Amino acid sequence: LLENTPEESINHRSKAGKKVKQPVVHYEKISKTYGDLQVLKEIDLDIAPGEKVALIGPSGSGKTTLARLLMTLEEPTSGTIQVDGELLWHQMVNGKLVKANEKHLHKIRNKIGMVFQHFNLFPHMTILRNVTAAPIHVLGMTRDDAEKQAVTMLEKVGLGDKLDAYPAQLSGGQKQRVAIARALVMRPKIMLFDEPTSALDPELVGEVLEVIKEIAHEGEMAMLLITHEMDFARDVADRVVFFDEGHIIEQGPPREIFHNPQSARLQNFLSRFR
Ligand code: ADP
Repeated sequence: LLENTPEESINHRSKAGKKVKQPVVHYEKISKTYGDLQVLKEIDLDIAPGEKVALIGPSGSGKTTLARLLMTLEEPTSGTIQVDGELLWHQMVNGKLVKANEKHLHKIRNKIGMVFQHFNLFPHMTILRNVTAAPIHVLGMTRDDAEKQAVTMLEKVGLGDKLDAYPAQLSGGQKQRVAIARALVMRPKIMLFDEPTSALDPELVGEVLEVIKEIAHEGEMAMLLITHEMDFARDVADRVVFFDEGHIIEQGPPREIFHNPQSARLQNFLSRFR
């Protein structure tokens, strides 16, 4: 199993040899196959600290799989993944694929916050307890400290008045905002949002996107956002990555991607939203 020795970490230097900022996420030649289906085809993608990256593309193009690899919910077929300088998967020169050991996996998972389509709150716990559970049990924070942090985050997502409520008493939009607070309280280096509004009633979508926008504009955390909300992607992302059939077809600043798409595939994809 992998020990992250300095020799093994990937050295991020520009061609001139100048040291460049280490990305918070580094995917290198990542492929993923399910049976005969190649879902990801040698994907290279780096996310810089604080960078907001929106992944767009048709259903089934591999976006969720890319995010799930980062959370170690899936294993790549080949390639290397590094999170904030820690090797998660490493493809050796001889082709062998090596996974980080448990200690590193634990460290890596704590750097990543996740918000999915479904919020998976604990139904028998209050909102406050839902948010304090991980800091207490995973980070070893005292209950007092965890509650202070949790209240701060719940206020940030506009739920400071719901601390003692139970999930069943909240709307879908409120539940999703709790899920966001629960991820934020762990102070991740990167937040993954996988279609965070696609399970919500249309009238609840706006409040969740607003909260994500506010967090994005605060700045320091990197974000990987999988979304079908093109206006949202344009407002929030520093870079938009268009995925199709397991490839990155085009990427760039939102202005270029949305106003001057180069490939026929991206033009066609965007035309569905007009
Ligand atoms: P997207 O997020 O872009 O909609 P996904 O990453 O969810 O795409 O899926 C990409 C492809 O991989 C789809 O064709 C999907 O059916 C397939 N797929 C995803 N997970 C599995 C799995 N566990 N087993 C088999 N096929 C899968």
